[in-house]
Amino acid sequence: MKFRNFKTVPKMIFGRGSFDQLDDVLADERQQPNDFVVFLVDQVHKDKPLAERIPAQPQDMIIWLDVSDEPKTTYVDALTLNVQQFSSQHHASTPPVSVVGLGGGSALDLGKAVALMLTNEGGSASYQGWDLIKHPAIHHVGIPTISGTGAEASRTTVLTGPDKKLGMNSDYTVYDQIIMDPDLLQGVPRDQWFYTGMDCYIHNIEALNGTYINEFARAFGEKSLDLCNQVFLEDHPDSDEKLMMASYMGGQSIAYSQVGACHALSYGLSYVMGYHHGIGNCIAFDVLDEFYPEGVKTFRKMMKKHNIILPKGITKELSEADMDKMIRTASGLAPLWENVYGANWKEKVTPELLRDLYSKM
Ligand code: NAD
Ligand code: ZN
Repeated sequence: MKFRNFKTVPKMIFGRGSFDQLDDVLADERQQPNDFVVFLVDQVHKDKPLAERIPAQPQDMIIWLDVSDEPKTTYVDALTLNVQQFSSQHHASTPPVSVVGLGGGSALDLGKAVALMLTNEGGSASYQGWDLIKHPAIHHVGIPTISGTGAEASRTTVLTGPDKKLGMNSDYTVYDQIIMDPDLLQGVPRDQWFYTGMDCYIHNIEALNGTYINEFARAFGEKSLDLCNQVFLEDHPDSDEKLMMASYMGGQSIAYSQVGACHALSYGLSYVMGYHHGIGNCIAFDVLDEFYPEGVKTFRKMMKKHNIILPKGITKELSEADMDKMIRTASGLAPLWENVYGANWKEKVTPELLRDLYSKM
């Protein structure tokens, strides 16, 4: 048996107002007067007070990210080209000394992806998979402004490519630095706060009920789940702090465990029907009573408390070809199903089972 030797984020700052320390963090990377930093910022923050606090110097580059679609390999390649053109025009083709990703899971994943693609040749689609990245990334800093995905802690950046939705998983993907400032969660729309938060809750339920779980992953997963329960079932003045830590710890837990049935089904919804990750997970989780009875019961309590109403009947109008594609996408995720059923998962995960679950959504 070989155990994973996984990399975690080496430096992190946590606390309200800690965003203001980004300038100090970047100062450590800026060695020459003209060294430049690239800020990849979710455009939801444009013209907001946070934008004015970005510690950009005149030689730096700020790119406002369009996250209406979840990150695609084509978008990553276009952003990388933008940065390369900027650097050839203004910096004699010297690369940036740091890339900062500021926003939700989408912006965090784009920050990781661009930092990787600036040092690895070819298109990002050719690196979708496990440990295909050859060279260390540019120094990169992740700063979440919505919590739940665990992208700030993980070793992947999830990308939709020409023929699959799959991350660039590698040790080089992991952020060099994260800043967790609960103040930045201000302004998140309530339903989106719930969907992204549920990503974390569902990660924990799937991991804790999975066959891959060990004591390391359980320690993080149980604490993360406890924090999710506090945030979504109770009322706490410091619930932003709690959710931010739940997200980070959920990400740490996944390093030594795996997600399960809900994520497999949600990947299908996202790849074929374009559902975003958080809401796709909620739609899928709501039909998984038989897989996670306690988890689903509590999830419904949380939905009720926060007046969340999920779309229903979403697969009714779906063509046979699209349904098949969704079933193929979901059943192709071997590690997730092995985490649900163990080594003999193939006997259980039949097209009929998946079709039945999808038709309930
Ligand atoms: P997101 O980044 O798409 O953001 C959701 C919405 O919230 C967007 O409209 C965004 O503009 C808005 N938003 C973010 N911060 C805000 C703020 N402070 N105020 C107002 N609006 C704000 O959503 P997400 O759920 O955080 O991330 C989903 C993405 O993360 C998916 O692409 C998914 O594949 C990926 N993901 C990655 C990992 C990983 O380990 N790398 C894990 C899970 C999910
Ligand atoms: Zn997830």
